[in-house]
Amino acid sequence: MSMNCKIVTDIAELYYEGLLSPETRKAVRRHLGGCQHCREYYRQYERLRKTSKHSALQPMPEDEISETEKRLYVNISEKLRRRRFWNIVGTSAAIGAGSVMLTIGLLLTYHKNGHSAES
Ligand SMILES: [Zn+2]
Repeated sequence: MSMNCKIVTDIAELYYEGLLSPETRKAVRRHLGGCQHCREYYRQYERLRKTSKHSALQPMPEDEISETEKRLYVNISEKLRRRRFWNIVGTSAAIGAGSVMLTIGLLLTYHKNGHSAES
């Protein structure tokens, strides 16, 4: 029984868990012996599984994910919101200052013209 790399990497988890039939297991081992790519893949997979406290077969508890992600999300959105707030404040302050100056300038010009026309 020969196997290609796709199959071997697909069933790496089953191989790791010892869930393969003896023949398949033997075939995978033989393939790993002759294929550096898959050996490397399996080595990394094994390391990942050993260092990860959560098994890939048992997904992370829902609430644990959402708690961490929620906290992250809140942190990020809080920062973004604050930054956006100051951006808006800064922009409207600039626009406001600009339009006030423009208005004053127009008024001054108008008054100057008006005065010069009167005199
Ligand atoms: Zn391979």
